[in-house]
Amino acid sequence: MEFIPTREAGLARLNAFLPQAGRAYAAGRNYDEPDSVSGLSPYLRHRIVTEPELLEAVLSRHTPAAAEKFIQEVYWRTYWKGWLEMRPTVWAQYRTGLRAALNRVQTEAGLRRAWKAACAGETGIDAFDHWAQELAATGYLHNHARMWFASIWVFTLRLPWELGADFFLRHLLDGDPASNTLGWRWVAGLQTPGKTYLARPDNIATYTRGRFRPMGLAQEAPPLDGPPAPPRMVPPTGDTPPKGRIGVLLTEDDLSPDWLLDRVDAADVAVFDGTALRSPLHVSQNVQAFVTGALADLDNRIGPVRRLATPEDVTRWAEGFEAIALPHPPVGATADALHAAMDGTRTHRMLRDHDRMAWPNATAGFFKFKKRIPELLKAHDRQADLFG
Ligand SMILES: Cc1cc2nc3c(=O)[nH]c(=O)nc-3n(C[C@H](O)[C@H](O)[C@H](O)COP(=O)(O)OP(=O)(O)OC[C@H]3O[C@@H](n4cnc5c(N)ncnc54)[C@H](O)[C@@H]3O)c2cc1C
Repeated sequence: MEFIPTREAGLARLNAFLPQAGRAYAAGRNYDEPDSVSGLSPYLRHRIVTEPELLEAVLSRHTPAAAEKFIQEVYWRTYWKGWLEMRPTVWAQYRTGLRAALNRVQTEAGLRRAWKAACAGETGIDAFDHWAQELAATGYLHNHARMWFASIWVFTLRLPWELGADFFLRHLLDGDPASNTLGWRWVAGLQTPGKTYLARPDNIATYTRGRFRPMGLAQEAPPLDGPPAPPRMVPPTGDTPPKGRIGVLLTEDDLSPDWLLDRVDAADVAVFDGTALRSPLHVSQNVQAFVTGALADLDNRIGPVRRLATPEDVTRWAEGFEAIALPHPPVGATADALHAAMDGTRTHRMLRDHDRMAWPNATAGFFKFKKRIPELLKAHDRQADLFG
């Protein structure tokens, strides 16, 4: 799949995929083939295309029953985001675990060799090696390949899961603190206590249509040990738009800011690109290029946007305004950096209606959350302006 970092390309991909978003998606989505899924995640992750406009387009073409599976998958992203917003310490624990694992890599030669081989796709497990190289080359992996890859990383290669999550974040164009961290935790048995995901040769053979049937995979997947999920915090509800001399600050998390610019009289619009903060290691050229391209596209769509390269630049820039308005930066490295950079600044973190309505429902597992989807879709319908 080729991912051109423009809204036009995202909308073209959406339109091309639409006929397939109904029962064809439900039947074919588990096959690791480019045409079985939408490939929209790099656009959704950066909100170059937004969830409400995707849902509206799908529902203008299919009945809710026919598109149920696709709609649920889109809401998985929303659910993970809401879950992490209410439990931000899980992100902090991941970063601490990652630092510890990277320290071990420095001092343990065996671990360093195994980690490097896994990242380079040189383990001798053909399917795994193929996916490692595919990810590095394209910035994308099919969902099923992500599940198999993570499972083999944790249970067959017995590498620290945080190193695998970091490898994904450095290379995935859609690399997302919530979906990625919680996806890895889910495979490893840390997210749903006692439940793990075991990659099985037969399942891989079926869903790669016989391209792979790897030998020597772990035959069981005992859950990893980890602290229980922290108590839930109140989800963010979003601040009101500020008045006065306002600076609008964007991040790679929301590159369709019209909804916010319509509500705020902006004296200046700037963007802080936190892509490099995804990992303590180098983030891939593909990821950097995608975000750089998406920011150039943003300039073309809304006029030149000032670039702020470092958190210090953000602090200095923010001093010129009475208040800063920004789309609520979701839990992750960018939000961490901005939190520190804007300590003492009057900030108004504004929330899209899609998130404000859905996030509070991420109280327990997805099974409970998904029962609320019909209600959430109705609320979207009522608020037609959401689809703008
Ligand atoms: C270990 C692991 C790590 C992952 N890391 C990320 C990540 O960093 N960023 C990311 O966006 N997704 C991640 N996912 C979820 C999922 O694999 C991708 O969202 C999906 O493969 C994107 O491809 P697509 O757009 O073609 O999906 P489609 O099947 O076409 O789905 C449409 C949209 O629904 C959402 N979606 C679909 N499946 C999931 C899911 N399981 N969890 C959350 N959202 C989903 C995505 O936004 C996707 O674009 C991860 C999954 C696993 C198992």
